Amino acid sequence: SERTLVLVKPDGVERGLVGEVIARIERKGLRLAALELRTVSREVAEQHYAEHDGKPFFTSLLDFITSGPVVAAVVEGPRAIAAFRQLAGGTDPVEKATPGSLRGDFAVEVESNLVHGSDSPESAAREIKLWFPSL
Ligand code: ATP
Repeated sequence: SERTLVLVKPDGVERGLVGEVIARIERKGLRLAALELRTVSREVAEQHYAEHDGKPFFTSLLDFITSGPVVAAVVEGPRAIAAFRQLAGGTDPVEKATPGSLRGDFAVEVESNLVHGSDSPESAAREIKLWFPSL
């Protein structure tokens, strides 16, 4: 079994899509190991997106993720990292995510693309430690 960090980003919380995201996670056969509504500090946002530091969209990414509450979750199950990324769909909700995925069904823009999911075991370990240090 594997763990991944999932975020419902501020656009998803604002639009009332938290239940939709959680329902799809559960229907897929994954479990919630932690779940919390949070407002992200600038510090946590910078650490979470450290790999994008220096990119042209870094500042707007931080502005966006700190713009309102997010739902943070640790999701657990067999192949949880890849399984959630399949549920999420590609980063660009129109060019990459296909209909049937969360981004394909519910998002249009690259920045406000509804959800985040860890992209590797290393990222998952780092992100879970950052968001849920007691786990
Ligand atoms: P996430 O890490 O949120 O699951 P991802 O792994 O699909 O997304 P990354 O390439 O890690 O995508 O980018 C992280 C986030 O930064 C994206 O989800 C998106 O919100 C934002 N982002 C990525 N590329 C761009 C871009 N060119 N312009 C604006 N925002 C971007």
